[in-house]
Amino acid sequence: RIVYVNGDYLPEEEAVVSVFDRGFLMADGVYEVTSVLGGKLIDFAGHTARLNRSLRELDMASPCSDEELLAIHRELVARNGIEDGLVYLQVTRGNPGDRDFVFPDPKVTKPTLVLFTQSKPGLADSPAAKTGWKVISIDDIRWGRRDIKTTQLLYPSMGKMMAKKAGVDDAWLIEDGLVTEGTSNNAYIVKGGRIITRQLSNDILHGITRAAVLRFAAEAQMVVEERSFTIDEAKAADEAFVTSASAFVMPVVEIDGVALGSGKPGPVATRLREIYLEESLKAAV
Ligand code: PLP
Repeated sequence: RIVYVNGDYLPEEEAVVSVFDRGFLMADGVYEVTSVLGGKLIDFAGHTARLNRSLRELDMASPCSDEELLAIHRELVARNGIEDGLVYLQVTRGNPGDRDFVFPDPKVTKPTLVLFTQSKPGLADSPAAKTGWKVISIDDIRWGRRDIKTTQLLYPSMGKMMAKKAGVDDAWLIEDGLVTEGTSNNAYIVKGGRIITRQLSNDILHGITRAAVLRFAAEAQMVVEERSFTIDEAKAADEAFVTSASAFVMPVVEIDGVALGSGKPGPVATRLREIYLEESLKAAV
């Protein structure tokens, strides 16, 4: 596999970053994951816009222009022959020298830019989408700026492990009795035909897939309510689902052992998945 590091395309075993890099020492970095379907990038513009926002919020310099980023994505997809899969991008603050809590001067320190691909044949035809995910609920003890897509992923990773140990697919994070989001996706419930998902704030990541799905739902005359919902409300819902760049729209059929509706993927989630895949493929670059 060929990996991109700071201007170079290298075999993965030759792609290296300094041990002093603040991304390594302090999780001082941000990332994006863009899906590739049929060799094309899904919602590249959305991911680039969010990357630039994350960088701004952390006073981090942008490593290159949006046009250069697109060119690098395309080059990596081509060099690695990716049909279906994803491109992972990470920007860290870099580091010129000693470990220090104070940020180095952004005029002097260049950020570190790393991109690699992961091949996932048949990504859009995941068998899990036909049976749906089971989830458990766990406390949301993450920091207060979940709107910034940082590489600080230890708790979400622990949440996935808790789910795995419980024999389910993912965990929904709960704060004050309310669902914030999944470990790596935005959460939705459907009740009486209404789609309910938490409003945007610093409490959740502003999902690129979320924005697209809400747009498609509105275009299809579906009713969307952007508000917080409790875990109890979720367990009493007709159906549920999550969205992310790599899972697209994934039905959720069980929460904490409680089956939703028929216990099978619901019609709203199933329809939204179809619309999302169809429309985002049409717009892919
Ligand atoms: N929420 C969290 C915590 C995430 O990590 C992610 C994606 O990684 C999402 C939501 C979904 O965002 P997107 O649709 O942009 O992939």
